[in-house]
Amino acid sequence: MSKSILVIGGGFSGITAALEAAEVGHEVYLVEKRPFLGGRVMQLNKYFPKLCPPSCGLEIQFQRIKRNPNIRCFTMAEVVSVTGKGGDYEVAVKIRPRYTAPKSCDLSELAEKLNANVKNEFEFGLSSRKPLYMDVPFAYPGRYVLDIDHVSEEEKKLLSKSPFINLKDEEKTITLNVGSIIIATGWKPYDVTRLTNLGAGSIANCINNMQMERLASPCGPTNGKIVRPSDGKPPKKIAFVQCAGSRDENHLSYCSYICCMASLKQASYIRDMYPDAEVTIFYIDLRTPGRYAKFAEKILADEKVKTVKGKVAKVEEDMATSGVWVTAEDAISGNKITELFDLVVLATGMQPSLAGESLPIDVEMDSEGFVFESKDKGIFVAGCAAEPLDVMKSAQSGTAAAMKAIQTVRGR
Ligand code: SF4
Repeated sequence: MSKSILVIGGGFSGITAALEAAEVGHEVYLVEKRPFLGGRVMQLNKYFPKLCPPSCGLEIQFQRIKRNPNIRCFTMAEVVSVTGKGGDYEVAVKIRPRYTAPKSCDLSELAEKLNANVKNEFEFGLSSRKPLYMDVPFAYPGRYVLDIDHVSEEEKKLLSKSPFINLKDEEKTITLNVGSIIIATGWKPYDVTRLTNLGAGSIANCINNMQMERLASPCGPTNGKIVRPSDGKPPKKIAFVQCAGSRDENHLSYCSYICCMASLKQASYIRDMYPDAEVTIFYIDLRTPGRYAKFAEKILADEKVKTVKGKVAKVEEDMATSGVWVTAEDAISGNKITELFDLVVLATGMQPSLAGESLPIDVEMDSEGFVFESKDKGIFVAGCAAEPLDVMKSAQSGTAAAMKAIQTVRGR
């Protein structure tokens, strides 16, 4: 029986699970696919319940990881095979090369000397980045990553002179022995380009809710200024289209749980920034669970925030102004509404990261890609890998998964 625990996924729930298990003395391996920890929370401007910036909760977690010798963190790493049984798993983890020295150092000047500008996926394509980068200044590990595919041979010669670059770094595979596994692989925004009637992916000023988070973030592509992607102008009339991809048998059949609250939160970003701006929220049902109802009441009491109960049928670009036409049927009056907005935000659904993918672990998943725990195998699930959750509930489910994993490795 191995007493070690593997956590797959370094977002908020995975970090929480790892810390809970490590702080009671278990050896924990935290494996994250991306170069940095923090998951989706890292991309938010603010998160519930306290509307803190991500640095607030995550920096504390990162400090706890740094201080705890029981946690070994592998970034740019993926589990490639799992053999054995509950209590005694052998796990192979493939680690991609980072090409930078382990010691933390600001490489921004060196990065600026590189020519390529690569589409920045962290910013959902709203900006580009250099091939030598960190997602945000408070990223963890605080260590640059070199995207070597976008570096020329000439530039490699320049980089090789830096003591902080290691071009000889290579992919490696390590083997871990663990007694229990926690799957905390998180979520991804639903692919908006599938929502063709909503103009997603083809209209510059029709963005998704995660792009809105990046526009509002002080370390985002516009330094926190919410502007139209087409011309950088402040929007005066903004529409939110709820259930964009969710509660629809052709897309995600379930309610994504967080997007009503996300739109209300984003309405508050806009109203705080632009006192004259008008916001319209098109919704089917406005879901504000538990104690969030009070926050919703406050936002909806603002006379410049209007709600229309009705499903949006169409979103189209206005070629002359780069504005966006929204067509919906008002379910209360029965009238068809067609209105022009400066910016439209699609409240995009939450899809499990594993949708359409597979893990090399024998676990059951539902048709949407959510994972079921398998207690007899010592495999547990945390956060949005199991169901759509907000950050607070993701952390709670990380703690719960850690408790179950600890019981497994202690043979209880
Ligand atoms: Fe629709 Fe709101 Fe549920 Fe999101 S949370 S799917 S916007 S009802």
